[in-house]
This record gives sequence, C-alpha cells and structure tokens, in this order.
Amino acid sequence: MSEAVTLNARRLADASRVVVKIGSSLLVDAASGHLNRDWLGSLAEGIVRMRARGQQVILVSSGAIALGRPYLGMKRTQGLLEENQAAAAAGQVILAHAYQEIFAHFDVKIAQVLLTPDDTESRRRYLNARNTLETLLSLEAIPVINENDTVATQEIRYGDNDRLAARVAEMVSADVLVLLSDVNGLYSADPGASPDADFIPEVTAITNEIAAMAGEARTPFGSGGMATKVAAARICMSAGCATVIATGQEPQPLQRIEQGEICTWFLPASTPLAARKQWIAGTLTPAGTLSVDPGAEKALLLGKSLLSVGVVGVAGDFERGDAVTIRSASGRNLAHGLVAYDSDEATALVGRQSDEFENILGYRGRKELVHRDNLVLLVEE
Ligand code: GLU
Repeated sequence: MSEAVTLNARRLADASRVVVKIGSSLLVDAASGHLNRDWLGSLAEGIVRMRARGQQVILVSSGAIALGRPYLGMKRTQGLLEENQAAAAAGQVILAHAYQEIFAHFDVKIAQVLLTPDDTESRRRYLNARNTLETLLSLEAIPVINENDTVATQEIRYGDNDRLAARVAEMVSADVLVLLSDVNGLYSADPGASPDADFIPEVTAITNEIAAMAGEARTPFGSGGMATKVAAARICMSAGCATVIATGQEPQPLQRIEQGEICTWFLPASTPLAARKQWIAGTLTPAGTLSVDPGAEKALLLGKSLLSVGVVGVAGDFERGDAVTIRSASGRNLAHGLVAYDSDEATALVGRQSDEFENILGYRGRKELVHRDNLVLLVEE
C-alpha cells in the first residue's frame, strides 16, 4: 500500500465527526424492492464501532422513494414528482423504522431529521437545524437525515442526497463525509465503457478535467451519479471537510475504507474550523456592533469567547447568527463574530453573568455571546 493510501485510510479513523451517506441502491434490493436488512445490520456494526472509539456519526439515508413505490403498488423506478412524493411519505416510515430497529440491537438511539434546501440555506432555519443536530449528538443519538421529499417542489429540491449530505457535513463542521454507493470511486472515464480507465485515488482540487470525468452516470433508483458526488465533494472541500467515495457493496464498507481498500478521497486545503473562520472573516457584512470593556478585549486577544459580562454596549438590529463587529472601549474594531443572540436579547444581557440568562430571557441559551469558534480577530494598523 502506498504511503498516500495509508495516510488517507487513517483519515476516517482519526475524524471526530463523520457524515455517512447511504445510497438507495445499497439499501433497497433491486429485485424485490425490499429493504436490505442484513446489509444495514453490517453497516450499523461499523458505525457502532466508530462510536465506541468516541467518534460522532450522522447518517444521511436515501431509500424512501425506492421503498415507498412498491409498498404503495407503484412501478418501481420511474415516477412523476407527485408520485415520488407520495412514495417518499410511505417509504420514509419503513426506512426510519428499520434504522430504529437495527440500531436498537446495539442499544443505540436514532432520530429522524427531514430537511429541505431552505433549512440549510436560510440563516435562521440553518441555525435551528444545526442546534437540533448538535443536541441529538450530545444526547448520543444518531441523526438519520433525508430530504423532506413530500413538501419539496421540483424547483426547491436537492433532488439528490449527495449534495444534501455535503450541506449537512458543512453545517455540523464534519471532518469527513463518506459517500457510500455502488461505485468505488472516480475513474478517468466510465469504467464500464472503457476498461482501461484510470482510477483516481486522491483529488486535491476540482479542476475542469475532474468535473468532466464525473460525467452523467446514473443508477436506476437514486437520482445521484458521479456528477452529484463531485459536486458534494466541492461543497465539502470549501468547508474544510474531506470526502470519500467508496463502494458499499462489500461487507463492512467503513472498515474497508480504514483498511485502505480502493476508494477516492477529496482532500480540502484546510480544516473545518479554519474554513469557517475564513468565511466569517471574508464574506460577511456586520449587522451590528458589540462594545466591550478592557477585560473582555484582553480575553479576546488571548483567543477566548466573548461573554456578556464584558459587553458594555450593543448597536444595530441583528438576528441570532448574524455577523457583528466587536469594538474596544477606545473605538478600535477588534473582531468579527457570529452572535448567539438577537440585538434585543443581547441588549438585555449587557454586563450580566451567564447564570442570570434564564431569568432574563426565559430560556437557558448559550453561555457565550460570541463563541470563540465563531470569532475572528481583525488585524488593524
Ligand atoms: N430522498 C430520496 C429518497 O429517500 C433519495 C434522493 C437520492 O436519490 O439521492 O428516496
């Protein structure tokens, strides 16, 4: 095994947070249209093993439409949007039930989360979805995510769970996204049509050439092909998350990736935290200002979070999750950060200790006004 392959194989075992996307073609038996329980059982074993090592795992699972169509007596593969939406409504129940039953054997709890693009693109819903996922993880449940196919219309659908999984990985700052399907990675050409196509084990930049290799290949059930997988990898790369495309068709697919079996790794240039900070530093127009006392200024410069006790003034009209400027008593812009409270709440919290928050706000919010992971210091002349 080459050094690069060994190094990449270790990435999965070393990741603290992993999103695993499971394609319909693995979960649903093509001949019978039934759920592949044995396969799911063996995947669950691998996930339980990762959790025992202290890793957090989130699943993004397709399969609702593929399970729902035969259940409702429809033809298996083709379908109008409204038929597929009806199929998803029925199939999602079968899917969630199967996950719950199979993980119960390992004494692991699961929770179903159905998302639409709005939930990952619009700021407030994004924050809510992220908080829910964080809470589920802190309760040691495995979130099992799918697109909310029943309400998503053609124009606002993800349509494929590869990109949905990438948005989830970005949202929870995952270290690795695993795309499990019926292909073992990226080839220079369609290996079915050109047997001498080269396998690409590692990608560090999605060039036009790489995008062209992805082509338009499709499988009968899932709506994704190699093109959506590369699109997913692109989203993850800019979020500092590595993506691995691997086959789920062999037993114990996650262990096989760790053992260096053939698969394609897309490697980001930075870590999720660095990518997030770069985004905060670069693209945001601050919606307000928090003025801080010298004690808080000192703490910020040491890399600490901003606590309300050190805030002396709030200006502007902002929502939770908006970008704000943090300014010193002498009027110097110190940092940009994403604030955990809206401007009315922040004003009420000025100078207060975090154990007073519940009395003031009526709920127990975050103890930091701006968490250090959401904060970037500004270097001024
Ligand atoms: N959300 C669809 C389902 O559960 C699958 C989308 C995809 O093929 O990626 O059936």
